[in-house]
Amino acid sequence: MDYILGQDDRAGQCIFDRAPDKPCDRKELILCRGSHIVILLNRFPYANGHLLIAPVRHVGELSDLLPDESAILMEHIRLSVAILKKHLRPHGFNIGLNIGSVAGAGLADHLHFHVVPRWRDDHNFMTVIAEIRAIPQHIEQTYDQLLPDFQNLLHGPLS
Ligand SMILES: [Zn+2]
Repeated sequence: MDYILGQDDRAGQCIFDRAPDKPCDRKELILCRGSHIVILLNRFPYANGHLLIAPVRHVGELSDLLPDESAILMEHIRLSVAILKKHLRPHGFNIGLNIGSVAGAGLADHLHFHVVPRWRDDHNFMTVIAEIRAIPQHIEQTYDQLLPDFQNLLHGPLS
């Protein structure tokens, strides 16, 4: 609960643009930052392992993406799903994109995909009805567990 309830003293600063020169950052929950892609754990997750995957460039519209960036984003969604399956063994995923604040994008200025692992009988409905989120594993434990595989992505051709 400490991070769910914690105040972020840098509210307003784009979370995808923090620690720009580092390949990872535990404090910012950045699992992987390449020259084109940044992947982090959502600090306010709907489920354990909830990832945010964004282009490095601060753009808000799909039409702003270059073809190479689109391909790299999709490839990293694919790779991220494989890593989450390996470590967390979810039964399914919700993967999506909210564009614009009217669509529910909390960080509307910087396009990002959500990758949310799902388990049979998980309790995500609690978020809808009561703003209570049931996260069984502490986010920093999840970060440490996932970090090596996400750092390995930086050695791939598309990072
Ligand atoms: Zn940004």
